[in-house]
Amino acid sequence: MSGTISALLYLVSGVCFIMALRGLSSPETARQGNFFGMAGMVVAIGTTLALPSVLSYETIILGIVIGGAIGTLIARRIEMTALPQLVAAFHSLVGLAACFVAVAAFFKPEAYGIGVPGLPGAIGTASLIEMSLGLAIGAITFTGSIVAFGKLQGLVTGRPLVFPMQHPLNAVLGIVVFVMIGWLIADQNPTAFWLIFAVSLALGFLLILPIGGADMPVVVSMLNSYSGWAACGIGFTLSNSLLIVTGALVGSSGAILSYIMCKGMNRSFFNVILGGFGGETAAAAGGPGGDRSVKSGSAEDAAFIMDNASSVVIVPGYGMAVAQAQHALREMGDILKKGGVTVRYAIHPVAGRMPGHMNVLLAEANVPYDEVLELEEINRDFAQTDVAFVIGANDVTNPAAKTDPTSPIYGMPILDVEKAKTVLFVKRSMASGYAGVDNELFFRDNTMMLFGDAKKMCEEIVKSLEH
Ligand code: NDP
Repeated sequence: MSGTISALLYLVSGVCFIMALRGLSSPETARQGNFFGMAGMVVAIGTTLALPSVLSYETIILGIVIGGAIGTLIARRIEMTALPQLVAAFHSLVGLAACFVAVAAFFKPEAYGIGVPGLPGAIGTASLIEMSLGLAIGAITFTGSIVAFGKLQGLVTGRPLVFPMQHPLNAVLGIVVFVMIGWLIADQNPTAFWLIFAVSLALGFLLILPIGGADMPVVVSMLNSYSGWAACGIGFTLSNSLLIVTGALVGSSGAILSYIMCKGMNRSFFNVILGGFGGETAAAAGGPGGDRSVKSGSAEDAAFIMDNASSVVIVPGYGMAVAQAQHALREMGDILKKGGVTVRYAIHPVAGRMPGHMNVLLAEANVPYDEVLELEEINRDFAQTDVAFVIGANDVTNPAAKTDPTSPIYGMPILDVEKAKTVLFVKRSMASGYAGVDNELFFRDNTMMLFGDAKKMCEEIVKSLEH
């Protein structure tokens, strides 16, 4: 395939990827976006396989078969609630791939077209800069993603892990990486190369360790961004324009998502990166709330209250995803609507365990998009709402975010469910949510706890409403 045709086809797939991102920005167009993404990837892989520089089809096919089989198996088995840790695990592979490409190119520059003519083994300055940045970002992404995976999977505590002199140590390691990059560029020294790799691995580990609790969503999107920049670095080393474009798209969209998430949680990006915020408070909290009493009710009580309301706002959270309660919930909403109740859904930007988690589940259950409202669209309406039906959500409703400066979620905007006339909380126990903080709302006079699995509770409410 000629260079012009491959460049043209790469341009086509680059445009497809941009259309994919555009489509994925709304649930209504997400399917179409996914289609563009897949089409772009088919064109990209086909074009790359037809490049004259391909040395061994056998190795590539073996890789595709093994990787494709593992990917298909994981995709079929993965629970929706485990997606964030899967994404973190996949990011670690992108980081590792960037490191492998850098190692291969450093020791065999001629094979990658980055050698200096007439000087065997020598690498051009620009290539050394690209390679060392790709290596450093790749290594940070690799270990950082492994820590994020461990935290989200519950293998390592999700709470911030802090120790004295953490930030100065990270700053020193960051400086060492830059000094080593300078050394590598100056005389292509293998010791400098391996030091960049080793120190960056340590830095990735140490950077993510102190971040925890409610800041994890930002970490996931931030690592997404890093993995994009690492791929971009590989693209420069391999002189592959599509990899540069795709890496930059992933890198910048991940950075924009991190910014949106920070804004949603009222946190500065810098503040999240420094991490460790509110760690001790989070550890101290999380108890069942001492011996204070709460008002609890049954599915019949909930059905009676909602049937007699004129407006209900449903607030879904992580527990709805765990219980897969979205279909039963939509059925409940439909029955209430038929009875003349206004039903709407309120989505917090960090509800669930990944960006857009609740939107995806509600869309899967065919909840009409115009009934699903974002925090800033619905928050003022709670004061005029009869019932806030909080199903498997906790942190995103916790008023400690407004009242307790020592709380790990302080400053995060919350859904003001407390302002509704009655608040119904569906959950299994008095346990705290992801951030490990007690929720004062459970003990309020206008709150009724509906203890039980979210799906079962919705099904029972549906039965009561039908009677
Ligand atoms: P929370 O984690 O605060 O609370 C979820 C609640 O669901 C728990 O209190 C739990 O209580 C309940 N629950 C669990 N399983 C069930 C079930 N089967 N049936 C009924 N209830 C159940 O969730 P929120 O959505 O309110 O908040 C999300 C939190 O996750 C935030 O702190 C956010 O920062 C964090 N996070 C978000 C990410 C994102 O990208 N959206 C990524 C990573 C973290 P009980 O055990 O008593 O049933």
